[in-house]
Amino acid sequence: MVHPKIMDVINFDVCTACGACVSACPAGAITMGKAAEIRDPDNLELYTHGAAPNVCEGCLTCSRICPVVDGYYEDEFANVRSFLAAKSNIAGQDGGVTSAIARSLLRQGEIDCVVGITMNEKWETELELFTNAEDVEKAKGTKYTYDSVLSALRDPFNEYEKIAVIGVPCQAHGARLISENVNDKIVLIIGLLCMESFYHDVMQEKIIPEIMGVNIADVKKMDFGKGKFWAYTKDGEEHSVKIAEVAPHARNPCHHCNDYTSVFADISVGSVGTPDGWNCVLIRTDAGEKYFKMVESELEFMEDPKPGMGLIEKLANMKHGNNSEHYREVYEKFSFECEGAPFR
Ligand SMILES: Cc1cc2nc3c(=O)[nH]c(=O)nc-3n(C[C@H](O)[C@H](O)[C@H](O)COP(=O)(O)OP(=O)(O)OC[C@H]3O[C@@H](n4cnc5c(N)ncnc54)[C@H](O)[C@@H]3O)c2cc1C
Ligand code: SF4
Ligand code: SF4
Ligand code: SF4
Repeated sequence: MVHPKIMDVINFDVCTACGACVSACPAGAITMGKAAEIRDPDNLELYTHGAAPNVCEGCLTCSRICPVVDGYYEDEFANVRSFLAAKSNIAGQDGGVTSAIARSLLRQGEIDCVVGITMNEKWETELELFTNAEDVEKAKGTKYTYDSVLSALRDPFNEYEKIAVIGVPCQAHGARLISENVNDKIVLIIGLLCMESFYHDVMQEKIIPEIMGVNIADVKKMDFGKGKFWAYTKDGEEHSVKIAEVAPHARNPCHHCNDYTSVFADISVGSVGTPDGWNCVLIRTDAGEKYFKMVESELEFMEDPKPGMGLIEKLANMKHGNNSEHYREVYEKFSFECEGAPFR
């Protein structure tokens, strides 16, 4: 029996739940429970890779597209071509640049579709495929929980030719590996910056009600910034706790993750390094330059933003400092070796 490398990733509880394997498996052997709630390696019920022994054809495609198998770069900034501060006319999480790029490229017919994450009043998320530019804004705003964006690409790979992906670094990484190894329909990868994310029930039952003393249905925006985690409520109040109070509750794979700025994206977008209401934008590839040029007339730019790249680099170093040993330790337990991994 072939042993796909991702079985180690799952068994050691470092699967990020990016969903790349779900979309790339030609046999459809891999499915993922709602919201990718895997956390107990002894109880994989919610994450039904269970079909694999019966359906798996042993092609090992999944071993080639898994970001955790592939490993990380020591230097996330070597491929950065330009650093900009930008904002759009969309009231997004920060400057709305992410939504504005997707909306504009859909309008121009440069992409056929993009997956977004929407949510209901209780902050329960849904993956939605947008083919209409005017729908993109439905997904604006950061959900600090997790949904397996790439798993939603299985059908679009059959139906569309020009797909854009928006996702956190593990998803940008999975998308890059899919486009290099399996399917060249992903034409643009917009990667968000990401320090960590949380399971839905941890956010809903612990962080917001217990740690912050707030009813999640009253929250209109969550944010990390200035050393704190913030919940802004509909009554206009601001609630905050130190990041140190919530960070230990992040998902286990996030404690092993060594990509802060989406090094595998064409364009990375975040908030740090720029003033409130603006996005930091890192352009990394030819595709990034090409597509950004097509949308830049719809954006506003700031010269010499403060605090600038230095803060982004500092936070990336902090993430690597916290997580690189965790990843090395778990990688040594894997039953396989992968070229380049754990770090290159
Ligand atoms: C879990 C998480 C952690 C983050 N941590 C940092 C950080 O430490 N530092 C930093 O500078 N920036 C961080 N960001 C990025 C930041 O919160 C904004 O997403 C980014 O600045 C883009 O802002 P915007 O106004 O352009 O987004 P908008 O225009 O509001 O668009 C938001 C886009 O993000 C997508 N999205 C929302 N939630 C998720 C999710 N959970 N997973 C995947 N996609 C999602 C939506 O589908 C939408 O396309 C994080 C984002 C996430 C999701
Ligand atoms: S080895 Fe191939 S068929 Fe088996 S789960 Fe992986 S991708 Fe699917
Ligand atoms: S490809 Fe993504 S979802 Fe699949 S095992 Fe690897 S990390 Fe998990
Ligand atoms: S910290 Fe890493 S594994 Fe966790 S959501 Fe962010 S990119 Fe994915």
